[in-house]
Amino acid sequence: MTRQREKVLKAVCSLEHPTAQETYAYITSNTGLQAEDRISLGTIYRNLQVLEEEGRIAAVPAGQDAMHYDARLDVHYHILCGKCGKVFDVPMQYNKDIDLEAEKHSGCRIESHDILFRGICKNCCSEEN
Ligand SMILES: [Zn+2]
Ligand SMILES: [Zn+2]
Repeated sequence: MTRQREKVLKAVCSLEHPTAQETYAYITSNTGLQAEDRISLGTIYRNLQVLEEEGRIAAVPAGQDAMHYDARLDVHYHILCGKCGKVFDVPMQYNKDIDLEAEKHSGCRIESHDILFRGICKNCCSEEN
């Protein structure tokens, strides 16, 4: 793994479902960055893609405009905040019944499903009050 890729992976682990832009902002805002450590947004995109292909991170297609990336690889649910645009994990149990139900109605073999909830996150809710 290249140093740059390692850096991108570390950023995704430190952030919560960052987009490529957020990953870029995180890495470039790091102080003490050496000249050889400079990294372009294009490189970030490429590295995120490779990391996803290698199965080290997961892509969460939650945003309307941008892909979010997740360091957590097990199947879990997400909520997209309509106000700040951030994606958070929803700590509820994976519902296998939905797979069985879908299998029954579609005749397909279902392996898993994703749920993306839409709403307003805790932070934004408390700002409203
Ligand atoms: Zn929010
Ligand atoms: Zn997640």
